[in-house]
Amino acid sequence: MRDTIIIGGGAAGLFASIYLPNATILEHNPKPAQKIKISGGGKCNVTNKAVSADHYHSSDPSFVHKILEKFDNRKLLEFLAKKGCRPVIRKKGQYFCPHSSSELIDILLSNRPQIELGCEVESVEKTNQGFVVHTTKGNFLAKTVLIASGGLSYKKIGASGIGYEIAKSFGHTIIPLRPALVGLTVQKEQFWFKELAGISMRVKVEVGGKLFEDDILFAHKGISGPAILNASLYWERGAIILSFLPKLPKLSPHKIISTQLPLPKRFVKAFLKSIGVEDKKVGELSQEEKKRLELLCHYPFAPAGTFGFERAEVTKGGVSLSEIDENMQSRLAPGLFFAGEVLDVTGELGGYNFQWAFSSAYAAAKGMKRLVE
Ligand SMILES: Cc1cc2nc3c(=O)[nH]c(=O)nc-3n(C[C@H](O)[C@H](O)[C@H](O)COP(=O)(O)OP(=O)(O)OC[C@H]3O[C@@H](n4cnc5c(N)ncnc54)[C@H](O)[C@@H]3O)c2cc1C
Repeated sequence: MRDTIIIGGGAAGLFASIYLPNATILEHNPKPAQKIKISGGGKCNVTNKAVSADHYHSSDPSFVHKILEKFDNRKLLEFLAKKGCRPVIRKKGQYFCPHSSSELIDILLSNRPQIELGCEVESVEKTNQGFVVHTTKGNFLAKTVLIASGGLSYKKIGASGIGYEIAKSFGHTIIPLRPALVGLTVQKEQFWFKELAGISMRVKVEVGGKLFEDDILFAHKGISGPAILNASLYWERGAIILSFLPKLPKLSPHKIISTQLPLPKRFVKAFLKSIGVEDKKVGELSQEEKKRLELLCHYPFAPAGTFGFERAEVTKGGVSLSEIDENMQSRLAPGLFFAGEVLDVTGELGGYNFQWAFSSAYAAAKGMKRLVE
């Protein structure tokens, strides 16, 4: 009988193992930490200067706040510094590994955790002896189990729905799963966006009571870029509002519209066509046409959908927080713990998701330790 089995050798599972030296990690990939490796453009955006529950989508922000507080961004940076890694801010309060995400992976593996690689977890059951974890490499018996198997995004590097399946088998509620931090597809009224593939520009996006000011990238499939990725986290269905300009500049009546707007010319021409206004001298515009130009500052539209899980950085939704205590332990199956993306907590772009993986893993590891000691 083992003290602890950790399902998943990603960010949360590896971090928890630092505080649980007797744990065995079961990982189906041939190598651990595949997502960390490719994250942040290979430099891993580990955390953010502005970590707070406000930057997370979840059904219980006060729960998220309590867990983040146990191991916040300051504690994470101190921990990494002690191990010889001092992340640097590259943009907007986002901390990245100085050289490569391997620096973080090396730290997570420095205690030499026991990892069974190529070991696919299939199910978990609770017996009188303890938890039995069924895998393609046989059964593992343990007093406690941590589910740190992540979400559905990026199947090509190992993502699976096993965490949700196990949670469901113990009676847990799964808040509906959706791709998030992902590009959005458009309906036919916005097909003109597709003609602009490759153009990037600064916009404001309003969605679900949140406002993001960042870059939008027009793509063949729809729209992407940081402003849209963040918007996707809060978009359910219905309209989002784009502002391509904060307000219309003073326009000379003698000059052509597209020569006067501080926006890419290709964009202005496509925009004018979409609203049925000819690119002519401003003085020749009717009052009604001038009104239509104001859509540049307030352009509401309903996206069609998202680019899907394969392109999404994260999975929104997951194991409901209402059935988890502040040690990350299941209220339905004592001894079963959860950490990371498998839970109904999803951060915005900017290092918030790794911070959640580490904070929740820390809380779970402390809770598990108390149970097995
Ligand atoms: C391309 C990309 C870039 C990203 N960049 C950033 C970034 O810079 N900053 C940031 O904060 N977040 C980033 N994220 C999000 C971040 O990677 C995740 O939120 C985080 O890794 C979640 O940690 P986790 O431990 O819960 O899950 P994961 O890190 O996904 O780990 C889960 C592990 O479980 C294993 N597993 C799954 N199913 C099974 C099974 N049946 N049996 C055994 N093992 C299994 C998986 O192989 C995986 O190793 C990025 C995501 C992607 C896809």
